Amino acid sequence: MIKENIENVKKAIEKIKGCSFEDSGITLIAVTKQKPVSDIIEAIDSGIEDVGENKVQELVPKMDEIGDGVNYHMIGHLQSNKVKDVIGRVKLIHSVDRKSLVKEIEKRCKAEGITQDVLIQVNVSKEDTKSGIYVEDLKDFLDYIDGFEHIKVKGLMTMAPHYEKPEDTAWVFKKLKEIFEDIKSINYNNIKMEYLSMGMSHDYEVAIENGSNMIRIGSYLFGDRIY
Ligand SMILES: *Cc1c(COP(=O)(O)O)cnc(C)c1O
Repeated sequence: MIKENIENVKKAIEKIKGCSFEDSGITLIAVTKQKPVSDIIEAIDSGIEDVGENKVQELVPKMDEIGDGVNYHMIGHLQSNKVKDVIGRVKLIHSVDRKSLVKEIEKRCKAEGITQDVLIQVNVSKEDTKSGIYVEDLKDFLDYIDGFEHIKVKGLMTMAPHYEKPEDTAWVFKKLKEIFEDIKSINYNNIKMEYLSMGMSHDYEVAIENGSNMIRIGSYLFGDRIY
């Protein structure tokens, strides 16, 4: 089942990009929250190279059990007191959304003599249930974070509002893609736009059509979560 679902997502990507998945430049992150390690192993055996979790207390035991050989992504809200548990262990923190968190990541990374790659979460739609920097505050936030040498910003992340029709989400993705390209033309020390993390089970095709190169897929691969 999981293998087939992964194949289906890859096929959909190939259809949109008109090339093989390997050549598409798209990173497919399997979001494994609330799913057992056995499901993650099955996904890895089916070709998944990137795994995402939204809670540190779930991510850390899973990383301990599964070990190296796969890239881990922290995609959910990150409390400052949990920073020490993930730095140096995840490929990307997708959810950098406030200055206090930046300070904590810098402090911890500096102490360990490492750098951490991160994405800045942007709240494009301004839904108050979502975290992220507002578009109009992004420039100031980038100037701030660029001053910390143990943090490398690799791109942007957003969560789109849930519309019944996935096409209605397009404006959010378009907007962030535009901003992503704008930032590329600015000369920063520690900021380089490589990854645009947007698109989930419901809307990943629309996200890719509008410029995403990193998608985070949970329920479509592993089935619905029970809360
Ligand atoms: C759960 C989650 C996803 C995946 O959502 P699905 O709709 O299950 O694909 C993506 N991104 C974040 C930040 C999440 O928390």
